[in-house]
Amino acid sequence: MSNISLKEAYIDKARRDFLKKAGAGVTTLTLAAGVTLMAYPVPAAARKPEEAVNPAQRWGLLIDVSKCKEDCNVCVTACSNENGWKMDGNPAVDAQWIRKLKIRNPKSGFEQTFPVMCQHCAKPPCVDVCPTGASFIRADGIVLVDKHTCIGCRYCMMACPYKARSFINEPLEDQKPWAPRGKGTVESCTLCVHRVDRGDIPACVEKCASDGYGALMFGDLNDADSEISKTIATYATKQIRADLGLDTGVRYQNL
Ligand code: SF4
Ligand code: SF4
Repeated sequence: MSNISLKEAYIDKARRDFLKKAGAGVTTLTLAAGVTLMAYPVPAAARKPEEAVNPAQRWGLLIDVSKCKEDCNVCVTACSNENGWKMDGNPAVDAQWIRKLKIRNPKSGFEQTFPVMCQHCAKPPCVDVCPTGASFIRADGIVLVDKHTCIGCRYCMMACPYKARSFINEPLEDQKPWAPRGKGTVESCTLCVHRVDRGDIPACVEKCASDGYGALMFGDLNDADSEISKTIATYATKQIRADLGLDTGVRYQNL
């Protein structure tokens, strides 16, 4: 597969056409009839552990719901595999960092499914209510929970309007070393911060692209030249419950 890695691969004819017009130096690779991988510059560069987070960046996601298939769950499975959480009927340890929602237009009957995860709000109520500072927003916009200072009060779970957080009641097994979790603490989507810090895109974005859907895009919302910013500047996009004024880092297209 030449030197094009999955993290660089997005399958999206509309975006490819857009980039061609924009002269962004996109390369494409045809794998089979109708299956084309698109490669464009990797959105992040690896951050050395000793380097501070860049406050000029704001990482975000753009989800094109028109490309999200009803029977598809690959983003959810990819997140579970990457971060080690499970949703298999044991309320003591079940967690869900990303879930598929279905909405229906009562007049037309039209239905649409799309994934929802922590929206990485710029003004996060979960951070505002946290009494210990465990719930915090990184300088680059990623909202996280410090497991060492979380006391499990769950105020943040009540404050989050997106029901994005889970609480772990019992000891966990088979944890991923790069995604620390623990009994008595709250957790939610980390935007795959461990991958972002090494210059990779989030697991859900990578899997959605490699399976041929290309519904998820990751990038720097503060960089006017990033693919995500150009798309948001070109097409109509929405924030879920924009009326709350939380300035979410997760945006939706065709919703
Ligand atoms: Fe916090 Fe919920 Fe916003 Fe995520 S979606 S930053 S958990 S309030
Ligand atoms: Fe899960 Fe990472 Fe996607 Fe967040 S960005 S939903 S943690 S796979």
